Amino acid sequence: MTFAPERKRLMVANWKMNKTLAETRHYFRELLAALRAVSQTASQPMATTHDAAPVLSGAVEVVICPPFTALAAYREMFPEDVPYLFALGAQNMHMRPSGAFTGEISAAMLLEHGVTYVIIGHSERRQYAAESDEAVAEKSLQALKNGLVPIVCIGETADERAAGETEDVLLRQLRPVLQALALALNEKAASGETSDRFLSATPASNEAKQGRWLDPDQLELVIAYEPVWAIGTGQAATPDDAAQAATFVRKAVEKALGARTASRLRILYGGSVTPDNISGYLEALNIDGALVGGASLDIASWLTIIERARRVGDAR
Ligand code: PEP
Repeated sequence: MTFAPERKRLMVANWKMNKTLAETRHYFRELLAALRAVSQTASQPMATTHDAAPVLSGAVEVVICPPFTALAAYREMFPEDVPYLFALGAQNMHMRPSGAFTGEISAAMLLEHGVTYVIIGHSERRQYAAESDEAVAEKSLQALKNGLVPIVCIGETADERAAGETEDVLLRQLRPVLQALALALNEKAASGETSDRFLSATPASNEAKQGRWLDPDQLELVIAYEPVWAIGTGQAATPDDAAQAATFVRKAVEKALGARTASRLRILYGGSVTPDNISGYLEALNIDGALVGGASLDIASWLTIIERARRVGDAR
């Protein structure tokens, strides 16, 4: 299974614990101006549903994930719910809709800021916040119920790779997510109904309330293959290694959730992506985009990465 034209390239910036609200406003303004300029010169700009919101290119979708405290900058710039040049993502969320969880953030709180994507289970959260594979599955389901697209991060450590355990680790991390999704999809397929436990309890979008994500032709899931040893180290995986992992992941999803879901699934590579190495990943088998940390903080390098992704996307 390879790149399918319906899988739009997805370029996600993970800012981690960087940039204040003021710095984010500045970055968004610059990014918007630059993307507008590119979209006006793009060879095949996509038709837009909103005059003020031309879309960069049919081939590339851009998402920025600032810290929670800076999310508000997006709605200040884009007050309405229409497709814009870039989308907003969060770096984490809680698996419960509300309650006594001091310091946590719910899906409804993200939706209020215009968030449409959420990173779940980043290796830094697994490492520093002891996030388990089961917690990652619960959060992913909660995101989907609320109409958010989860970007589920998986990846092996250097020791696990050296021990030849990469695929075992990827499967161990993915299994609870796939099982939870399979349960939900099977239940819907068997009864034709969506049980209440798969519907949003929070004021989510109508689409989420109707449980459209339970339709294999509408389910939006993103998996980021991020080898831990490659994150923030400058030691990126080779495109071949990344492609091998991505192919393994797509096959695992196909086995658990069926061919329709697997062919819609977008798989990202993450780990020391730069303007110099991005094209290699986007040309690799089964990779549909990238999750970029350090190189997304600098607007010039992020724009170069997006532009290179656009060229690879347009050439397909
Ligand atoms: C990340 O934060 O997910 C990441 C891949 O970081 P970096 O690009 O800095 O390696």
